[in-house]
Amino acid sequence: MHEESDNRILVTGGAGFIGSHLCDALLAKGHDVLCVDNVFSGSKRNIAHLQGNSAFEFVRHDVTYPLFVEVDRIFNLACPASPVHYQFDPIQTVKTNVHGATNMLGLAKRTGSRILQASTSEVYGDPHTHPQPEEYWGNVNPIGPRSCYDEGKRCAETLFFDYHRQHRVDIRVVRIFNTYGPRMRPDDGRVVSNFIVQALSGAPITIFGKGTQTRSFCYVDDLVDALMRFMSLEGDMTGPVNLGNPVEFSMLELAELVLELTGSKSELRFEDLPTDDPRQRQPDIDKARDMLGWEPTTQLKQGLSRTIDYFDDFLNAAENAS
Ligand code: NAD
Ligand code: UDP
Repeated sequence: MHEESDNRILVTGGAGFIGSHLCDALLAKGHDVLCVDNVFSGSKRNIAHLQGNSAFEFVRHDVTYPLFVEVDRIFNLACPASPVHYQFDPIQTVKTNVHGATNMLGLAKRTGSRILQASTSEVYGDPHTHPQPEEYWGNVNPIGPRSCYDEGKRCAETLFFDYHRQHRVDIRVVRIFNTYGPRMRPDDGRVVSNFIVQALSGAPITIFGKGTQTRSFCYVDDLVDALMRFMSLEGDMTGPVNLGNPVEFSMLELAELVLELTGSKSELRFEDLPTDDPRQRQPDIDKARDMLGWEPTTQLKQGLSRTIDYFDDFLNAAENAS
């Protein structure tokens, strides 16, 4: 018998970078957590510390197939987030976004669960409006190498809003901007983990293009706090809501900061800019401030230092084991 109506929480993609931090935070609040993941871009290492916890359960499952479980809330995070990983098998990426969203929305409809979708700033593509408010419809290439992710996520948003309109499913859609922190994979391919691992190992820092393109980086604890706040809000609060840190940096500035914080002597190596790489990105987070009473509190320097410590330990442990 379950007395509370919001206690059994499903986190898809729970063995991933953000998902594993979310599992930690939900368990700390006393929830029962069911983590569902096919471990494509995540790792069982991210949740190894939870295995003895009776409130935590892990199921290896691919969300492109239906899932029959009884839950009260669903955080739908399953999807590789790094361009390297989502472009490895782009058809699977589309299926994860579209079939995965359909399956999880069907589950939400049957169980009456509230469901949150981890959408992305990529729905804005290479934006013509800066910073990006939620009202901006985006500038996305539908047929390029990033489209499996960008259009997959856009279609997932469409499905969420259609399930809401057609079946009154209680949805929450967030558009996450670049998030970083401990438990990113060393071979993740995203810029923060690449630069840190390169700096710590003395390898050249790979700057794509001239490094003048910008991103706004949010520390994972700030993001998880916002996800939980939004899930807890009562009422017809569908979103979409941008979540991210509005302080914008160029990739050159990021590289310089990583070199300063690690004390590394790595050289900068300039490589080709990937196709359709957005030139600038900064969230307008007024809506998140108003609705959630939230804004990020971790400065980039502080968050990078914690992430550097994580990778330092990780790389040392890997070296000692070999
Ligand atoms: P991640 O790759 O570390 O985590 C994604 C998890 O989903 C992994 O554990 C992976 O194994 C799992 N997964 C992938 N396909 C699956 C499938 N078909 N079935 C079951 N599990 C599957 O990435 P992350 O950075 O933790 O991102 C989590 C979510 O947040 C993703 O949906 C991503 O699109 C979104 N997001 C992240 C960022 C960011 O900067 N980190 C930005 C925007 C949106
Ligand atoms: N980038 C880079 N060097 C790297 C990895 C990425 O200069 O080794 C750049 C990339 O071209 C992009 C930015 O960093 O302009 C952010 O890339 P990431 O893959 O982290 O995220 P996304 O492009 O999805 O925002």
